[in-house]
Amino acid sequence: MRAAVLHETGQDKLDVLDDVEAVGFGPGKVRIRVRATGLCHSDLSAMNGVLPQPAPFIPGHEGAGEILDVGDGVTALSPGDRVLLCWLPACGGCPSCKRGQTQLCLAGFMNAGTPNFKRPAGDVFGFAGTGTFTEEVVVDAGCAVPIPDDVPFDIAALIGCGVTTGLGAAVNTADVAAGSSVAVIGCGGVGVSAIQGARLKGAAQIVAVDPVASRREAALRFGATEAVAPDGLADAKQRITAGEGFDYVFEVVGKSATARTAYETTRRGGTLCIVGAGAADDVLQLNMFELFFDEKRILPSMYGGGDVLTAYERAIALWRAGRIDLEGLITHRVPLAEINDALDQMRTGAALRTCIEL
Ligand SMILES: [Zn+2]
Ligand SMILES: [Zn+2]
Repeated sequence: MRAAVLHETGQDKLDVLDDVEAVGFGPGKVRIRVRATGLCHSDLSAMNGVLPQPAPFIPGHEGAGEILDVGDGVTALSPGDRVLLCWLPACGGCPSCKRGQTQLCLAGFMNAGTPNFKRPAGDVFGFAGTGTFTEEVVVDAGCAVPIPDDVPFDIAALIGCGVTTGLGAAVNTADVAAGSSVAVIGCGGVGVSAIQGARLKGAAQIVAVDPVASRREAALRFGATEAVAPDGLADAKQRITAGEGFDYVFEVVGKSATARTAYETTRRGGTLCIVGAGAADDVLQLNMFELFFDEKRILPSMYGGGDVLTAYERAIALWRAGRIDLEGLITHRVPLAEINDALDQMRTGAALRTCIEL
């Protein structure tokens, strides 16, 4: 079957091959025919080494498709079922799951060290234990979440990562208060999902901050009340908050420099929500005086900061009711053969989300 493979960490192009096989099918597993997959910034971060991932690997973790086959012991799924892929399935039994913080369950990551693809040249890993830039993937049954018939595959794929991450940051983690002021730094697919979440929660002002003009324009369509380039943020803070700082600032870039800016843009006693996925060697500096004296709440948000299955259902309900726009997130569509064009669209910031149709 066809799949897009990264041979070595640090390479910037994927190799679309037709000699790849999805392996590991057996008890508790399902085989999925992937129909749509979104390109998430974390895929680029795994390719360039910012996020840890053994190579060679198939990127992609935001996908949806149909069940082809179910292994022994899988009773809740059948061939033909339409599913979205959850890259962080909850085991239900670990301390995090028992506390209700299923987004912190590490059970799914145990699979990330096991190759789930094979080529004549050797084993191939799947990013984050999934790997959706491929026609077929074998995953634990818990990674396959059934979706209603009215949810198209491309929309379901987005809910599998970017939408859940961004919406959840605003709705679960920051729990934005009605009437508040919000700034969102970084307005790709996750950032505009955070903007939609802040709008849903009733934020009065939502300032979108991004260096790319097309993203700023998009952010306004998704509920931002104004959009500025990074060098316009200080002025927006002065105008909107009289210099005090925003009630909530979302960092959706994953860099210490933008996190520091976000910290300084948050008002005393306000909330800084860290959503971007950054590198282990990129250190954010805070001094001990400002930390206690300004009482800013620093709230990191992982995969939406809440139970992911609940988050999927919520996103579908909001989308169906017309309360969030998911179609508008998909600015580009390409077949798998043109995946490298999709990577370029992501790098330049031209795309909010590129959907790869399989
Ligand atoms: Zn993602
Ligand atoms: Zn668990």
